[in-house]
Amino acid sequence: MRAKSLRTWLEYLQKTDRLAVIDKEVSLQFEVAALTKKLDGIKATYFTKVEDYDISVVSGICSTREQFAEALETDQYELLSQFSAAVSSPAECRLVKKEEAPVKENIILDDIDLNSFPIPVHHEKDSGKYITAGLFIVRDPLTRKQNVSIHRLQVSGKDRLGVLLLPRHTYHLFKQAEEAGRPLECAIAIGVDPVTLLASQASTPFGVDELEIASALLKEPLEVVRCETVDIDVPAYAEIVLEGKILPEIREPEGPFGEFPKYYGPRDDKEAVQITGITHRNHPIFYTIVPAGYEHLLLGGIPREASLIQTVRQTVPSIKAVHMSLGGTCRYHAIISIKKRNEGEGKNAIIAALANSFDIKHVVVVDEEVDIFNMEEVEWAIATRFQAETDLVVINGTQGSKLDPSTDNGFGSKMGFDCTVPIKSEPMRYKRIHIPGYEELNIHDFINKNSSGLLDQHMENKR
Ligand code: MN
Repeated sequence: MRAKSLRTWLEYLQKTDRLAVIDKEVSLQFEVAALTKKLDGIKATYFTKVEDYDISVVSGICSTREQFAEALETDQYELLSQFSAAVSSPAECRLVKKEEAPVKENIILDDIDLNSFPIPVHHEKDSGKYITAGLFIVRDPLTRKQNVSIHRLQVSGKDRLGVLLLPRHTYHLFKQAEEAGRPLECAIAIGVDPVTLLASQASTPFGVDELEIASALLKEPLEVVRCETVDIDVPAYAEIVLEGKILPEIREPEGPFGEFPKYYGPRDDKEAVQITGITHRNHPIFYTIVPAGYEHLLLGGIPREASLIQTVRQTVPSIKAVHMSLGGTCRYHAIISIKKRNEGEGKNAIIAALANSFDIKHVVVVDEEVDIFNMEEVEWAIATRFQAETDLVVINGTQGSKLDPSTDNGFGSKMGFDCTVPIKSEPMRYKRIHIPGYEELNIHDFINKNSSGLLDQHMENKR
């Protein structure tokens, strides 16, 4: 499989000319982020000379929807159904011996210093260096099931991280530990394959191990290995693993930090992680995600789309596709196409979509022939198939994303556009213009390769 590890994936990107190797010396302060952003959606960036580190940095390893599909060895139309299938039937990981795990090639238990790794500063007002692409793994002591998520991690000291825990699964396990007066052990895996990375973002009920979703997606057990200082299993092919514990009763300043909506999350007192050990491969590669880049947005968006399509399907079985667009930060805007069979289903789809996630703020529903991945088509549907008086749904006083600065700490409004055509409308009224033969025609069969010269000749004859 091309996505067995970060390294096999990078080799695949290089073979297909989608890896930009940057040998010129670059700074961790903004330069890694700026160069990666320049190539966003085009090529991954691989920096071989970052300040005086002898560790390479990579970013943008999956910055298009197609690339995630390639990592899963499918196409972008099958991507969501494959992802949903894996979420609903996770498969066990395989615990390997230490000797079989490349991440154990180097084990550091004394003199831990996070500054020995090239950790970038991404945006102007960020409080400092941030680890943005670490899979944060914790274990439920009752069920022994692990939970995986990605949290922003501020480097607060040479063996200390500040962490933002949103009120989801990791937070719940930490609060349980804290109430019992205990720390919560954790491990942070940096530099894994893109499939495991995507699996970590699955919307699952509490108690599902996201690494087992990775196994299902990879169609073979993900190889994991037990940590040195904590009772946690991590991907055996990870480049770097930080081991540690979230400390009870301790909160330290964290932030500001440039987040996915392209605004800064504020500075506040947050949980702290004490690092107890580090293991890494020989010549480790440090992987960073530039916040709000396509990679970051799509990593959040694709699993959300998979969850959204299932929710809406319960209400509107004829749903065709969903798209959480980049402009809507892959979280706030949902575009949905349905094959409308009964009047009112457009609005039912809006209500179902808003119920799927508190993050969803604006929903556009269109008929199945509108290409929802083409935003010009979506705008056309809003322009010509929507009347505010009858087709607009507004719900005030709801909870949304706290990172949306137009809300009052998340409190705000939701809106839906029903752009589906009324079922009983007169057939010619919404008939889209069409040129017969257009789809089948290959323009290259008609253009003369030396057309500019011929045009001159033609014009000459006309004079
Ligand atoms: Mn979870």
